[in-house]
Amino acid sequence: MNDFEYPASHWFTYVSGSGQGGMPYHGLSPLGNVQNANALAEVVAQNGGDVWTNTPVERILIKDGLFTGLVVRRDDREVEVSAKLLVSDLGPRKTVDLAGRENFDPDYLKQVDALRPAPIVANVIASDKLLVDVPGGLLIVGAKRIVAGMPVTKTCPSLPRRASTCWWSGARPLPACTMSTSKKRHG
Ligand SMILES: Cc1cc2nc3c(=O)[nH]c(=O)nc-3n(C[C@H](O)[C@H](O)[C@H](O)COP(=O)(O)OP(=O)(O)OC[C@H]3O[C@@H](n4cnc5c(N)ncnc54)[C@H](O)[C@@H]3O)c2cc1C
Repeated sequence: MNDFEYPASHWFTYVSGSGQGGMPYHGLSPLGNVQNANALAEVVAQNGGDVWTNTPVERILIKDGLFTGLVVRRDDREVEVSAKLLVSDLGPRKTVDLAGRENFDPDYLKQVDALRPAPIVANVIASDKLLVDVPGGLLIVGAKRIVAGMPVTKTCPSLPRRASTCWWSGARPLPACTMSTSKKRHG
């Protein structure tokens, strides 16, 4: 999310303990986030469901304004799946593309068209020395590019495989920064 899309007051409410409770907990999956996805898939299978991976959705089917199903590509052929409910995590723009713009309200389309990608560069540094000795995450103010950081080894000591410590930071590339904060210049 870009800074012009999110008022600073919302962010401070989100991170404050008295607002929405703050951000007291940080977790990392030592074997990557696929660990979480696989665990969830196991629960779905245990409860009689099917999980289809590598099955891209090609169309979202709408009839008379109502969702009726999907066309997916499975084993290199199109398969139609009828369904009553769709939970899409593709983001609004791609969801609209797959369902067809004609099926959405003009006001909603206006909001979707106004969305801009938020640029971020993630850096991971493995080192033999602990670079920052604090627990949890840091919001960094006043630096040129870096906006957040986390000495991940402090939260998840088993994570680095080839070095004794690991530092992660998020930064905004300068040209992209200018793009996202200057709506007027870039339309
Ligand atoms: C660099 C970076 C760092 C981040 N760091 C953090 C963090 O430290 N902590 C945190 O909480 N969040 C973090 N986030 C945010 C977090 O990753 C997202 O909020 C989260 O992944 C969103 O999950 P999602 O399931 O909604 O969407 P996604 O994870 O984007 O999943 C959407 C999936 O849909 C698939 N897809 C696309 N098109 C199709 C299609 N036609 N058919 C089928 N599948 C399709 C995509 O391949 C993708 O796997 C970070 C994001 C980025 C980019």
